[in-house]
Amino acid sequence: MSEQSTPQAGAIEAVADCPHCGKPLPLCICDSVTPIESKISLLILQHPQEQDRALGTARLTAMHFKDAVVKIGLSWPSLSKALGRTVHDPSRWAVLYLGSAKVSDLETDAEIVAINRKGEVEPHQRAILSDIEGIVLLDGTWSQAKALWWRNAWMLKCQRVILGPKRPSRYGKLRKEPRRDGLSTIEAAGLLLAALEKRPEIAEALNASFDRMLARYREVQADMPELAPKPKKRDYRRRKRG
Ligand SMILES: [Zn+2]
Repeated sequence: MSEQSTPQAGAIEAVADCPHCGKPLPLCICDSVTPIESKISLLILQHPQEQDRALGTARLTAMHFKDAVVKIGLSWPSLSKALGRTVHDPSRWAVLYLGSAKVSDLETDAEIVAINRKGEVEPHQRAILSDIEGIVLLDGTWSQAKALWWRNAWMLKCQRVILGPKRPSRYGKLRKEPRRDGLSTIEAAGLLLAALEKRPEIAEALNASFDRMLARYREVQADMPELAPKPKKRDYRRRKRG
């Protein structure tokens, strides 16, 4: 044998991806996921440049629900087109909003707050939140999610909700916070559906899966660092830490 390849390159080529979650198989935890029957539908729009296969959670999130769709792209003409079925009343869908409104600035301690176009708390929280039949999540870095927001005008017809999570993201230092509320897609989905359906076990199931995913990531990073590269610095916001 005269040809030599680097052992790292060989190892990467030899490892297949899971067809369900899209992760390299050593990082896959699909076996442990049981789909939940939820009343509220979930649509996850993923920016095409979000390619964090190791730490991304969009497809893993969707696997937890019988009624969840992941679409990769930049724009769709309507909610119905994005979802792949007819939605009669987009105002009964809510987009997890990324604008400047922060729950900590609003006078509420709710974990989910419906806001209006001015970023103010909607007066009829309960009526709006109890009427929601579907959630749209934007998956990607903060700037990618903002691009999705601006390119999909139909989202203006949806409700806007923001989150005030009681605890920080489980990503910890593994990934800089991709969203203003600091949560991963899987944590945001768990918090939203658990609260809207009043089923805390939904958040528990999703958080437990996320913990398993992160534990697997750390194991693989120790054994096969080429499969779970250390996260690069992300550019979505420049925040001075004092
Ligand atoms: Zn998988």
